[in-house]
Amino acid sequence: MKLQRVVLKEYPKGELQAEHMAIIEEAIPELAEDQVLLQVEHLSIDAFIRTTFNEGAFHGTADLGQPIVALGIGRVIDSRFDGLNQGDAVFGPMGAQTHAVLPGAMLQKIDEDELPARAHLGVLGVTTGLTAYAGIVRVGEVQASDVVVVSAAAGAVGSCACQIAKNCGARVIGIAGGSEKCQFLIDEIGCDDAIDYKHEDIDERLKALAPDGLDVFFDNVGGAVLDAALLNLKEGARVVICGAISQYERTGDVKGPTNYLKIPERNASMLGYTVFRFAEEYDQIREALAEWVLAGQLALPEQVEEGIEQFPDALIKLFSGGHKGKLLVAP
Ligand code: NAP
Repeated sequence: MKLQRVVLKEYPKGELQAEHMAIIEEAIPELAEDQVLLQVEHLSIDAFIRTTFNEGAFHGTADLGQPIVALGIGRVIDSRFDGLNQGDAVFGPMGAQTHAVLPGAMLQKIDEDELPARAHLGVLGVTTGLTAYAGIVRVGEVQASDVVVVSAAAGAVGSCACQIAKNCGARVIGIAGGSEKCQFLIDEIGCDDAIDYKHEDIDERLKALAPDGLDVFFDNVGGAVLDAALLNLKEGARVVICGAISQYERTGDVKGPTNYLKIPERNASMLGYTVFRFAEEYDQIREALAEWVLAGQLALPEQVEEGIEQFPDALIKLFSGGHKGKLLVAP
């Protein structure tokens, strides 16, 4: 039996291209004691994957010729690990491949009674729903009286962050690229307003939509979007740095915010976080998210690309913005 996997062929210098990756075929290794063989069902397309192609990356730098890292959901085909049996759904570091052989101890068994297993990559996923909850509720401490602005709002973390902020009672303005995504933010995500950063002046629109300024800016993008938000902070505002996707493909230095002096001028704060900081609260956060999902107060649309050969293009798509909600690959 063979597996197919996506490996990094060459380190990209700047924009990622499909040619930087290759698909290879290999025999599936024999199971050792305490290992399980999995059919990979869904892979989470995450920005951190691209950062592992850079030198000195926070999540470690990928080795050429090795499978690209990816979190995913797998179904147990064969098990030599007590506690995992054929047919069980599990979450873990699957890697960009059709099948995975992993130590059972690295996997988390998933309860599929109420929500499909792939929800553990999206709305209940560490890199998506949990990240959004941690940023909005725990770091941003969003209150009902707040005006909250979210960048990359039509993406996975952003779509969840907007809805979580709405569930906290806040007024929410989403920033996304293009009129279709802005309509999606209003119609499906429940944003009060949306700004199309590709065709509108963010600073002008924020001044019109929130003349008294922003209480919380939840940033996924960095660069010019962050700079425009900094010009519109209310006294005591909180800027939450979740990510900076506009900077991950830069070959030189990351471009920091030019307007950072607005932080002291407005007695504001800028706080960054990684979701891992909240690891001890994952179960509790997941419960809160699932409650909203089951009550119809939180929904994350998914875009699923079929076939492992779609993985390179899907990763590129995350940066070009060719998706709404959570981007997944079904190998
Ligand atoms: P996503 O939002 O589903 O996809 C990324 C989106 O970013 C794209 O859809 C695109 O939307 C937008 N984008 C890409 N390049 C851009 C640019 N140059 N300027 C403006 N917008 C750009 O991705 P995600 O997985 O949910 O990740 C969102 C952010 O969360 C990333 O920054 C990621 O690093 C961060 N994150 C942080 C943590 C943490 O622990 N802090 C954990 C997970 C993820 P448009 O079409 O609107 O441009």
